[in-house]
Amino acid sequence: ANAYLIYCRPGFEKEAAAELQHHAERHGWNGYAKGKSDSAYVVFCGEDLPETGPYAPRWDDLVFARQLVILPESEALALDPQDRITPLVARLAGQTFRDLVLESPDTNEGNSLSGFFKAFGNTLKSVLDKRGILRKKATRTLHLFFLDSATVYLGYSTPENASPWPQGIPRLKFPREAPSRSTLKLEEAFLTFLSESERHEWLREGLTAVDLGAAPGGWTYQLVKRGLQVTAIDNGPMDRNLMQSGQVEHLKVDGFHYRPPRKVTWLVCDMIESPAKVAHTIAGWIADGDAQRAIFNLKLPMKKRFEELLHCQEVMDDLLRQKQVKYRLQIKQLYHDREEVTAYLIRETGPA
Ligand code: SAM
Repeated sequence: ANAYLIYCRPGFEKEAAAELQHHAERHGWNGYAKGKSDSAYVVFCGEDLPETGPYAPRWDDLVFARQLVILPESEALALDPQDRITPLVARLAGQTFRDLVLESPDTNEGNSLSGFFKAFGNTLKSVLDKRGILRKKATRTLHLFFLDSATVYLGYSTPENASPWPQGIPRLKFPREAPSRSTLKLEEAFLTFLSESERHEWLREGLTAVDLGAAPGGWTYQLVKRGLQVTAIDNGPMDRNLMQSGQVEHLKVDGFHYRPPRKVTWLVCDMIESPAKVAHTIAGWIADGDAQRAIFNLKLPMKKRFEELLHCQEVMDDLLRQKQVKYRLQIKQLYHDREEVTAYLIRETGPA
């Protein structure tokens, strides 16, 4: 391929570009990242960029990428508004895709294209169907990423290396009985980091969790809803209805010093504190086996967000290696994250 296209939260293009550049150096990609401020996407332009294998980019690994799309051509195609279909079909002839998505940057301008997508999408789909370009047996998804109604990037993704949601955005419904909007962050984290079978195995009755900085209880709510028993740590008040579930114990103690009397399955944490301090605390729990899995937020309000993130990874890696604990760490800026990212750290069994 000649380019990678990633979608990101508007305002995080610099971080997304720095991250791609960082991977480029490690993987030997020959090229450079470019992204305009507040455009909500970044393109890494290069030559002979790997699409699969150990040196290819991984959607899982890219913190700031909501979606990862492979671009055969690094330039956007200019379309004639009188006939957009003919040049698109010409470009796509001879290739097959399982699916088509029409997407745009997550900006006001980009989002205003949704009306155009409805009408144009149906027409295009039926043409691509007839030409045999869309086929059930194909594996790749075709992405048409429109900057405006006449400028489009053509690319594709594979299901095992992409977000499952159009634009990389899960449309989650806010549960009316949840105590706070941040509840959606933990729900999105479960959907992003765990497969369906892992969610069945790891989020169910009989399991236990600790929620650090739990009040008023949006995250606790997600755990309670799935049947877990939760210890909620916060000096602030917890939602009354949630407490009445009988599944929550509320302790008004310091989240940075608390440790549970018995090992728990999950540790979750949404305390607003320096990210390195949070990272160190969580890694300590996992290293000591006090929790098997953790989901936590790292707030990144500072200028050098990407550098800070690398620092947090180093803090966790040092601590876990020192204690010879095998682990897996994944970090993503979720759609419901603002100036923050969400991390998933699990203790893996077996020797380090
Ligand atoms: N996740 C919660 C929800 O969904 O409702 C919102 C958490 S709110 C962003 C952060 C919480 O962390 C606050 O309620 C605050 O009291 C708590 N907090 C901050 N520092 C703390 C500490 N050292 N120990 C315990 N709680 C702390």
